[in-house]
Amino acid sequence: MVHLNSSLIDVLGGRSAKLLSTAFGYETVEDLLRHYPRRYAKRGELTDLKSLRIGEHATVLAEVASAKEAPMKGRRTSRLEVVVTDGKKTIDLAFFAMSSMHKKRLIPGVQGLFAGKVQEYRGRKQLIHPEYILTAQQGEETDPDVIEMFAKALIPVYPATSTVPSWRTAKAIKFVMSQLEIKSEDDVVPESMQKDLDLISFKQAITWIHEPETFEQAGLAMNRLKFDEAFILQTVLLQRRAKESQLPATARKKVTDGLLTSFDKNLPFELTDGQKQIGEDLFKEIAQTNPMHRLLQGDVGSGKTIVALRAMLAAVDAGGQAALLAPTEVLAGQHLRTIKKLMGDLSTKGELGGNEIGTRVELLTGSITGAARSNVLANITNGEAGIVVGTHAIIQEGVKFKDLALVVVDEQHRFGVEQRAALAAKSPGDKRPHVLVMTATPIPRTVAMTVFGDLDICSLKELPKGRSPITTHVVLSIEKPGHLERGWQRAVEEVKNGHQVYIVAPRIGGEAAEDDADLELEDEKRPPLAVLEVAPMLSGGPLKDVRVGVLHGRMSSEEKDDIMRRFNAGPSAKDGIDVLVSTTVIEVGVDVPNATMMIILDADRFGVSQLHQLRGRIGRGSEPGICLFVTEALEDSPARERLAAVAATTDGFELAQLDLEIRREGNVLGSRQSGKKSSLKLLQVVKDVELVELARDACKKLIEEDFTLSQVPALQKAVLEIEQEAQTEFLEKN
Ligand code: ADP
Ligand code: MG
Repeated sequence: MVHLNSSLIDVLGGRSAKLLSTAFGYETVEDLLRHYPRRYAKRGELTDLKSLRIGEHATVLAEVASAKEAPMKGRRTSRLEVVVTDGKKTIDLAFFAMSSMHKKRLIPGVQGLFAGKVQEYRGRKQLIHPEYILTAQQGEETDPDVIEMFAKALIPVYPATSTVPSWRTAKAIKFVMSQLEIKSEDDVVPESMQKDLDLISFKQAITWIHEPETFEQAGLAMNRLKFDEAFILQTVLLQRRAKESQLPATARKKVTDGLLTSFDKNLPFELTDGQKQIGEDLFKEIAQTNPMHRLLQGDVGSGKTIVALRAMLAAVDAGGQAALLAPTEVLAGQHLRTIKKLMGDLSTKGELGGNEIGTRVELLTGSITGAARSNVLANITNGEAGIVVGTHAIIQEGVKFKDLALVVVDEQHRFGVEQRAALAAKSPGDKRPHVLVMTATPIPRTVAMTVFGDLDICSLKELPKGRSPITTHVVLSIEKPGHLERGWQRAVEEVKNGHQVYIVAPRIGGEAAEDDADLELEDEKRPPLAVLEVAPMLSGGPLKDVRVGVLHGRMSSEEKDDIMRRFNAGPSAKDGIDVLVSTTVIEVGVDVPNATMMIILDADRFGVSQLHQLRGRIGRGSEPGICLFVTEALEDSPARERLAAVAATTDGFELAQLDLEIRREGNVLGSRQSGKKSSLKLLQVVKDVELVELARDACKKLIEEDFTLSQVPALQKAVLEIEQEAQTEFLEKN
C-alpha cells in the first residue's frame, strides 16, 4: 500500500521519481497528488472512422488490423505503428514510447476504444499516443455499456514541462492512485466540520480531482481542495496572531500635556477625521500590555506619516522610544526632514534653541559611519533619541535601544512574524515593542485576510482636503511624436510657473552591470530607456532652459540626499533642481508637494501598482497635477490597455483589484515556488472570497476548542511544515 508520505522513489522507481523531482521538485506521493489537472478533456461520443476530421478530438471503436515496431532514426527506442479498422475504413495509431508494452496489448483482432486528436501524416489520418482500452478479444463483440463508460469519462490534462509531458504525469498519478490508501487521519478537516460545511472527504476529493466521472465530481473535489488551502493558511495565520497577542508588552499610556499636545497645537493643517480616528485607536492599543500588530493602509498621499508620527510621540511621552523604518535611504532621509520640520524645536532637545519638553530625532542608515554613527548609537542607547528614523539596518544590526516602545514600518507589506520576533531583543526583558506597518497598496479584504491574516488592519479612506486632481494621458511616442514634443514644452512651462517635474525611466544605464532588477524584459523589444542616456539628451534638447538633475540607485546616499534636497527647493532656489530624471527610486513615499508634473518614459515597462505609486508623487499640493505615460506599445496590446486603465482612474483600490487580476495569484503571497507546502495551487484569493471567509470562520471555531490541533493531526502537521518553511526562508535571508 502506498501512503501520502511514501517516497516516489519507492513507489515509482528511481527513473520516474528523478524526472518528477527534477521537473517539479516532487519527492513524496502527496507532492505528486497535489499536481492537479489543469483541465479535463472529454472523450466524447463515438465517431465513425469515415467522418474523422483533422484537428478534432475523437473517440473511435475499432479492431486492430496490424501492429509493427519500426526503429527510430538515431535513437535506441523504436516506434510502434498500428493500423485499426472498423471493417470499412482504417486509421493509423503511432506510439513513440513504451512501444513493446503497447505491442503486447494491441494484438491483431482485438477490439478497443481509442481516443485522441486526429492528425495527418503523409496523407493519412493518425492518432498519436491515443488513450485506449481494449474492449473485446478476437471474435467477440464489445459490450455497449463499456463504450458508454469510456466515452463519457473525463481525461485529466496535467500541467506539463518540456521534460515531463502531461501524459507521463498522468500515468504516474494513475499508478499511484491504484495503490493509494488514504485514512481519515489524513484529512485536515475534522469529520464533524465536513458535515457542517457540506464538504466531501479528502479521500473522495483526491479521487475525484484525478479520476472524475463527471464535471460535477471534479467541481466538488476542486472546491474541497481549495477549502483546504484556505483552511490551512488561515490556521497558520490565526495561530500566529493568537500567540503573538499573548506576548508581553509595556503599556504606553497617553499623557495629556506632553510632546504630542504641543505638537498638535503647532500642526499647520487640520487632521482628517480618519487620521484622528486611527490616531485614537493607536493610542489605545499601545496602552495595552500586549503588543499592537497593526497594518495601516491608505492610498498614496493619504497622510499616513503624520498618523504614525503622532503615535510615536505618544510613545515618547510615555517614556519609551520609537523607530521608523523606511525601505530606502532616500525615503529615510526624507522622513527625517519631514519629521524635523513638523516637530520644529521639539526635535532638537539639548541643542541650542531646542525645546526641553521635546526629544531628539536621529537618522541611522548603513551609510552613516564613523564618529557620527557612534554618536547616534550612543544617543539611542542612553535614550536621548526618542525617535530614530532609518532603514532596516536599525533592527538588523546590534543597535541597542534604551527602551524601544514602538516600531513603525513604512511602505512595506511584508513585515512578517520573523522580523517582528527579531524586535524582541530590542526591548527590555521579554517585552515586545508595539508594531505599526504602513502600506500604500490598498488590498481587497480577502487578500488582506490571506496575506496579513496575522495583523489587525485599519484604513485611511479619505485624502486630506484641498488635494487637486491629477490628469493622466497616454502619449504614443511613435504614432504621435508631436504629443511628446508638447509634453516637453509643458514641462518647461511648469518650471516657469515655479513647479518641479519628474521624469522617470526604467533603467539606470551606463557602464556598470545592470542591476535594475524589477524590469520584466520582453526579449523582442529594444532595451528600456535609461536615465543616464535620457538626461543628457533632454538637457541638451527640449529641456535646455531648465536645470535637470539625475537620481538613481547607484548613487551614494550623500549624493542622493543632496539631489533630493535641491529638487525639493526647486525653481525658486539658487542651487535648485527643476526637473529630476530618475529611476523608480522615487516610487515610494517621496514627498515634494510643489512638483506638478510627471513624465513616465516606457511606461508600459511598469506594473499597475508601480505606475500608481509613481504618479502619487504629484498632486500632493494645492496645484493640479499632470502625468504622461509615454509608450511605444501597440494599439490593442495588453500593455496599452493596462496604461489606459491606470490613466482612467486614480482610485488605488480599483487599481489594486486590476493589478491582482493581471498578476498571477502566486505573486500575491510573495514569490513562493511550486512544490512548497505554503503555495496556493487552486485558491484564488481575489475570486474565492466566500471560501476564504468560510475557512476563516471554521478555523476560528476550531482553534478556540483545540488550540494545539491535537484532534486533527493532519492539520497540525501541515501547519508545522509551513512554519518550518517560513523559518528556513527567514534564516536563509539573514
Ligand atoms: P502617504 O500616506 O502617501 O505616506 P504622506 O504622509 O507623505 O502620505 O502625506 C502626503 C502629504 O500630505 C504630506 O505633504 C503631508 O504633510 C500632507 N498632509 C498629511 N495630512 C494632511 C492633512 N490632514 N491636511 C493637509 N495635508 C496633509
Ligand atoms: Mg508615505
